Amino acid sequence: MNIIEQLSKELSNIKLECPECKGSGWVQSIEWQEYWEKYNKRVKSLEEEYPYLSFLDVYKAVDDELEDEMPDVPEETVCPECYGNGFVLTEEGKSFISLLKHYLSLEII
Ligand SMILES: [Zn+2]
Repeated sequence: MNIIEQLSKELSNIKLECPECKGSGWVQSIEWQEYWEKYNKRVKSLEEEYPYLSFLDVYKAVDDELEDEMPDVPEETVCPECYGNGFVLTEEGKSFISLLKHYLSLEII
């Protein structure tokens, strides 16, 4: 196994899935989380209150009812924990990247 193959193998261990965004790189704003929670509760409430309504009618009613309450902020933003990468470096990974940056700063390539 040459050094590139060894490095590729080792690099699989230097990162972990981001715990904040679960690897997506995006996080939903609090405002939107609250909106969707309210939306889903209202859907459930209408379904119980009017069991004869169709699925589409229930959602249309809730859409209309909560239209003015839609948050005026982006629904999702880049994850502040991983900067949108979807992963975070382990301590070993941070050391490796630091070492790599050192070699890149030498301008030998
Ligand atoms: Zn993240």
